[in-house]
Amino acid sequence: MFRTAIKMAPTSASDIPSLNLLYKLNKLKVSELGPLKGASPVHNDRIGLFHGDITTLSVDAIVNAANTSLLGGGGVDGAIHRAAGPGLLAECRTLGGCPTGSSKITSGYNLPCNKVIHTVGPIYDYTQATESEKDLRNCYLSSLELATQNGVKTIAFSAISTGVYDYPSEDAAHVACDTVRKYMDGDDTKSLDKVIFVTFEKKDYMAYSSLLPHHFPPSVPASQDQDNITRGQAVEAEVKASHLPNVPTTDPADSGHVPKKRSQVSGE
Ligand code: ADP
Repeated sequence: MFRTAIKMAPTSASDIPSLNLLYKLNKLKVSELGPLKGASPVHNDRIGLFHGDITTLSVDAIVNAANTSLLGGGGVDGAIHRAAGPGLLAECRTLGGCPTGSSKITSGYNLPCNKVIHTVGPIYDYTQATESEKDLRNCYLSSLELATQNGVKTIAFSAISTGVYDYPSEDAAHVACDTVRKYMDGDDTKSLDKVIFVTFEKKDYMAYSSLLPHHFPPSVPASQDQDNITRGQAVEAEVKASHLPNVPTTDPADSGHVPKKRSQVSGE
């Protein structure tokens, strides 16, 4: 019997629920930790949470967890190169690699996004946690700066370093949320329309679900806000949420999670 591969339609930035919508739907709860000092709800319409495959997103740019060679690897890097096709590897070969904590930008080729920002996360070192945190922070910051310089309005981040590079998910989510919030606080021109955190494995989804409300608290307690949304708004919100793909449990293009300390795509 023949099997036909069904390709999901790409998901656009406007299809991805914002934090405000997730609070209204009661899909995000107020943090038990309370809001972080300096945290506020001002960015909640411009932050999104997506649980699924980043290669299906038709946003201006997706952020790849690359290695220093930029020549492809396992995990999300492998999935991105496979979906983009050989043009991506050809462009990456011209870039001369990238140091840890830095980022470089390419076209998206066969991906539904326009650009790919390749950032090199740290291999987590428990004995040098402060260094690892600094490098991870620089990944998010350099990606956001590249996005702004290149007119990117909608950007989706994979959970950098939380796979093979072993960064603890909660600690990594804290660094990601904190760096994005501070960048948005300083971005007076509102150069970014939407920043989306993409989680693939359940552990990262749980980490973001618990830490996002700490960094981006709701404007009013979610229970009160629930009473304020009209029936029409609730229906629209449920429809939007129901259009999102189901949570995958494996890398869609990988039979196993391939270590990426060496290049997988180029065979080097
Ligand atoms: P690193 O070496 O930086 O840890 P990995 O690719 O191993 O990079 O993992 C980074 C994150 O990407 C992990 O949270 C992993 O679950 C996630 N991931 C793997 N495949 C995909 C995918 N197709 N879409 C989105 N995220 C993915």
